[in-house]
Amino acid sequence: MNIKNNSNNFLHNIINKDLKKNKNLLLRTRFPPEPNGYLHIGHAKSICLNFEIAKLYNGYCNLRFDDTNPVKENAQYIKSIQRDIKWLGYKWDGNIHYSSEHFLILYKYAKELIKKNLAYVDELTKEEIKEYRGTLKKPGKNSPYRNRSISENLKLFKKMKKGFFREGEACLRAKINMQSSYIIMRDPVLYRIIFKEHHQTKKKWCIYPTYDFAHCLSDAIEKITHSFCTLEFQDNKKIYNWILKNTSISHYPKQYEFSRLNLEFSILSKRKISILIDKKIINGWNDPRIQTISGLRRRGYTASSIRTFCKKIGVTKQNNLIEFSMLEYCIRNELNKKSVRTMAVLDPIKIFLYNIDDNYVKKLIVPNHPNDPSLGTHEIFFTNTIYIERKDFKEKYDKKYKRLKIGHEIRLRYSYIIKAEKIKKDKNGNIISLVCFCDLNTLGKKPSNKKNPSVIHWISLKHSFPAEFRIYNSLFNIKNPEQEENFLSFLNPDSLIIKKGFIEINIAQKIKNKIGNNIANLFFQFERIGYFCIDQIDSKKNHLIFNQTVRLKDSSNIKNYS
Ligand code: ATP
Ligand code: MG
Repeated sequence: MNIKNNSNNFLHNIINKDLKKNKNLLLRTRFPPEPNGYLHIGHAKSICLNFEIAKLYNGYCNLRFDDTNPVKENAQYIKSIQRDIKWLGYKWDGNIHYSSEHFLILYKYAKELIKKNLAYVDELTKEEIKEYRGTLKKPGKNSPYRNRSISENLKLFKKMKKGFFREGEACLRAKINMQSSYIIMRDPVLYRIIFKEHHQTKKKWCIYPTYDFAHCLSDAIEKITHSFCTLEFQDNKKIYNWILKNTSISHYPKQYEFSRLNLEFSILSKRKISILIDKKIINGWNDPRIQTISGLRRRGYTASSIRTFCKKIGVTKQNNLIEFSMLEYCIRNELNKKSVRTMAVLDPIKIFLYNIDDNYVKKLIVPNHPNDPSLGTHEIFFTNTIYIERKDFKEKYDKKYKRLKIGHEIRLRYSYIIKAEKIKKDKNGNIISLVCFCDLNTLGKKPSNKKNPSVIHWISLKHSFPAEFRIYNSLFNIKNPEQEENFLSFLNPDSLIIKKGFIEINIAQKIKNKIGNNIANLFFQFERIGYFCIDQIDSKKNHLIFNQTVRLKDSSNIKNYS
């Protein structure tokens, strides 16, 4: 097997060393999601890490649902997690695994610990267990049930399994050391009673192993060689190794920790995302404002942009907060290369060009991409009534304003130079349209007597199709909402802004023909506005909705992460 190096992933060095010691090592990693929510960009980091390492070293990566708590889990999450992993471009080895498929073996290992006098049934209440456990400063004290005989423990554990106890009345604990300086080693709970039907094992069990008991043993049963988890499990490694050492299991996986992804302006905890959903602050797990995989996908992020991001952030042991602009850089870079340029007017005002006939239609062929002819061309139409963006016109004279104003000229993108002459207003004083003169001598050329005016985008009214545009801003107005206890008090009221405007009719036609088919591959750059995709959930043939994926590059605040 080849030794790999030069990466921004410290785990490669560890594996390289392992391979030096054992040339025949068959590497096996696993991604172990708990099916209690949808995957997010933090999980993507772990997915890329586990699957890419397996690929790099010609090994395998398992998918294992860590389903030891039926209270919070359900089958809908299992489906969504599989879909998201596949969408990210990864394939797990063989069948999907579940911690629950190992429940019977785990039960046997629990009995083995009891028989070795290394586990006991405790009947303290949850609160008492907590109190007896002590603190960092105060050592724990032994439970009065700690010294039960092996046979009594075996009998009671069986009773737990058979449903003789109620929830919270008994649990199985490892007998380690109540005075350990690691609180986690003060007789951790291995099994607890939960009377809830399980999505996989149905009513078969009413005792469920804890994460600590199930994880190491499931890793071992599945012959995982390297078990990667985030830094907060550093102390749990002590239990991980203790259980493997004290049971007769023959395979020895090793746990390694890396720092979890924290992303600016984002909430990644599933528990907190659930709160946002329950309180109707966002519309479900796939709301484009949150950084779940399904939210990012709906927002127009591609799988490759997420993989690129995960590669760029690397894998280290340092906890840090990654800039959101780095994620944006990854998608913008990709969309710049592949999205079709087209014009859309998000907040329209009408312009009437009085020196052009009502039935005049000029067809113009425009490139789909400024530098890539392979993306082709499309037709746009010029007539005497067009829409422009409301903010591209200023009523009050402003010397610095480089857009349209009365008495001044502007170039319509791919088209003519026009001059604003009159404003039409309704009785409340709102502008309803502008009357302009069109210089028909200016198509594709600069008249010698004129300066080059600025360029704005536009759409012919007769060749426009109505559309809704959803503009997203960050959901929180502070950089690190995850750190705040009351994160709900930092919501950005402008996280979603809806605009009703128009797109080019040809583009609308192209989209409508594709609705229900391959619409996910359509990426647009609305010129001068940003990158957009079709919202695949809410769009209808006659009500097209676009999600803004990311703004255009604005040299003032965009960093280069290349
Ligand atoms: P959350 O805190 O979002 O609820 P979790 O850690 O409880 O996440 P699991 O489903 O248990 O979620 O996680 C599956 C795997 O993904 C674990 O190996 C976990 O370490 C990893 N993971 C979860 N969140 C992140 C993150 N922010 N960065 C990196 N890895 C993560
Ligand atoms: Mg979890």
